[in-house]
Amino acid sequence: MKKIIIAIDGFSSCGKSTLAKQLAKVLNYVFIDSGAMYRAITLYFLQHAVDIHNEVEVNNALQQISLSFDYNASMGKSDMLLNGENVEERIRSMEVTNKVSEVSTIKAVREFAVLQQQLMGDKKGIVMDGRDIGTTVFPDAELKVFVTANILVRTQRRLLELREKDKDITEDAVRKNLEMRDTIDSTRSISPLRKADDAIELDNSNITREQQLDIVLNWAKERMK
Ligand code: C5P
Repeated sequence: MKKIIIAIDGFSSCGKSTLAKQLAKVLNYVFIDSGAMYRAITLYFLQHAVDIHNEVEVNNALQQISLSFDYNASMGKSDMLLNGENVEERIRSMEVTNKVSEVSTIKAVREFAVLQQQLMGDKKGIVMDGRDIGTTVFPDAELKVFVTANILVRTQRRLLELREKDKDITEDAVRKNLEMRDTIDSTRSISPLRKADDAIELDNSNITREQQLDIVLNWAKERMK
């Protein structure tokens, strides 16, 4: 079977990373969570009070950033390293989550992240999830999936995840954050979130994770022949 590139895009909290991680495990492929890279850049900008409207400051900051992944066997995925430090927990904070979409609109930030993502895929055998993987990062990916789910389902899923760490988080705050990110992500001028023309849409509002994996694995196997 030939090695392929699988691009998974979609709105926030559609279960893209869960699907990408499962696929990579079954196929013995590399899984890259591209959102973690934008989150790590955002964390660095927050830590160093970078003025995101100042091009020079942004470019200088990007030159100080080194992103890498470290495989965490217990989680079955890679942790995000920012300048060699494991920031996997910190990049999931509400502070980063509320800022990441704004940072992700910046041209220099996107060029910085996309170049590294493309290099990771040069040997194929990769599943990457994000917002612009099928449209910009890997426009020639053999399989492109555009995942959707209704906003109520997505809010509940994210709330369950976040409540494990923060008991006080409200449903309203979670829904507003998802809607805000969806709007910024799909209306930005550079690589806006949209379904690639050749992507297959998958609404997972009413199917289980296992059913979703089965469906996408069949699509992948077709393309690996
Ligand atoms: O996937 P995740 O929700 O962790 O991504 C966080 C944010 O990073 C998204 O809301 C989006 O603004 C940005 N992002 C992006 N392009 C990607 C992946 C993520 O702009 N390929």
